[in-house]
Amino acid sequence: MLDVVVVGAGPNGLTAAVELARRGFSTAVFEARDTVGGGARTEELTLPGFRHDPCSAAHPLAVNSPAFRALPLDRYGLRWLHPELPMAHPFPDGTAAVLARSVAETAASFGPRDAGAYRRLVEPFLPHWDTLARDFMSLPLTALPRDPVTLARFGLAGLPPSTWLTRRFRDERAKTLFAGLVAHVMAPLGGFATGAIGLVFALAAHARGWPLARGGSQAISDALAGYLQDLGGAVHTDYEVKRLDDLPPARAYVFDTSPTALARIAGLGHYYDSFRYGPGVFKIDYALDGPVPWTAEEPRVAGTVQIGADSAEIGTALRAASREGRAPDRPFLITVQPTVVDPTRAPAGKHVFWAYGHVPAGWDGDLTDAVERQLERYAPGFRDRVLARATAGPAQLAARNANYVGGDIASGAVSGLQILLRPKLTLFPYHTPHPAVFICSSATPPGPGVHGMSGHNAAKAVWRRLRQT
Ligand SMILES: Cc1cc2nc3c(=O)[nH]c(=O)nc-3n(C[C@H](O)[C@H](O)[C@H](O)COP(=O)(O)OP(=O)(O)OC[C@H]3O[C@@H](n4cnc5c(N)ncnc54)[C@H](O)[C@@H]3O)c2cc1C
Repeated sequence: MLDVVVVGAGPNGLTAAVELARRGFSTAVFEARDTVGGGARTEELTLPGFRHDPCSAAHPLAVNSPAFRALPLDRYGLRWLHPELPMAHPFPDGTAAVLARSVAETAASFGPRDAGAYRRLVEPFLPHWDTLARDFMSLPLTALPRDPVTLARFGLAGLPPSTWLTRRFRDERAKTLFAGLVAHVMAPLGGFATGAIGLVFALAAHARGWPLARGGSQAISDALAGYLQDLGGAVHTDYEVKRLDDLPPARAYVFDTSPTALARIAGLGHYYDSFRYGPGVFKIDYALDGPVPWTAEEPRVAGTVQIGADSAEIGTALRAASREGRAPDRPFLITVQPTVVDPTRAPAGKHVFWAYGHVPAGWDGDLTDAVERQLERYAPGFRDRVLARATAGPAQLAARNANYVGGDIASGAVSGLQILLRPKLTLFPYHTPHPAVFICSSATPPGPGVHGMSGHNAAKAVWRRLRQT
């Protein structure tokens, strides 16, 4: 009898397995795909020698994750590569705002009328960032807050909608960059606690940057799996779990899956029926003949580039996909250009690049033309550099990874109370009605992103239960 079986080898499943194996529990992971990684993989999706990240590529949350920082992942080959700028946001007039490592550089890019307001927003939190990140990512109640005062101040700034928070800016440059940050988790700009989302991404950039993993995001997963195996844990790939009976006997089962799949597999009936999924995305991985020909200079050295003319255009695109059931005419795009820092990802002189925009859940159209029209506004001649593209809409994303229900890459809508309390309105989100079954995917707090904190928090719930029994 094993102590723990983990279903799903995404960042959260692997982190949960590592945390439990480190504490001496015998652990095995079962993964449906033929490689570990979930949303942190790297594959040759287009042409030989072009190494794409089909999902995550930029890692502000991973490099700042209290869980990952406590693990010796560098000994297992993980190296963070920092682009000159974490993120840039170009505008139609050929200029750009930036999210730089330095607060002063970021503030200056917003213009004189908003530089002070930005500094006053982020500077009070920066000296407390490590504690704040840990407290925020351990909500609700996985650990008592170490710095409740800073957490409360962060709540005051972040719990209102992001549109309230951005009222402190007078010009569009800061408002637009901040709206783009909120849109990374597909949250409606006027929704509860969306200010906190933007703030977390901004503070993460100033604290430790938005790096990429050398060789691609697979390096994060391989490091976690390598460490797990050294701790005596087993990893079984090509093993899709359909019923609890498919698994060896264990004292606890931890699911890095969607709540819907977990309810089906573990026979939990309608327990998660109130869980809501969000909109999908349409993603394009490009093999390019040269770098993206951005008009503005800043995006040429940024790892991540946000595309949206102003906060209104970004809000309209998010509403179209999440509320109006239609694909936006001008999608808000998140793009990542790994070869800005990692030449090993493509043959000499060539580049890999990805872009995605939001579409309604389950949408089956082709967004390629709308995505490329947006890119051409900021990088004229982009299309001429395309050697090959691999597109994936909601159906393909869900087929690659069952957690992306309807193409929702956040594994559950990041809106309303579900931003903080997911997958149920409970203070014990990692528990289920079955005493031996737990959930650790990004459908649980602190939500989407490669940070392993859901796995870390769920592992705590598991070891407390195992020690009791
Ligand atoms: C296009 C895209 C871009 C993204 N960009 C970023 C980014 O730049 N930065 C960032 O931080 N995050 C990004 N994300 C989000 C990030 O990838 C996810 O939030 C993160 O991977 C969630 O981790 P997880 O462990 O909860 O689940 P996942 O990574 O989804 O892993 C779940 C694993 O469980 C397996 N599984 C599911 N069901 C079963 C079953 N029944 N039996 C066995 N195995 C099963 C799946 O195959 C998968 O390997 C992106 C995601 C996508 C899709």
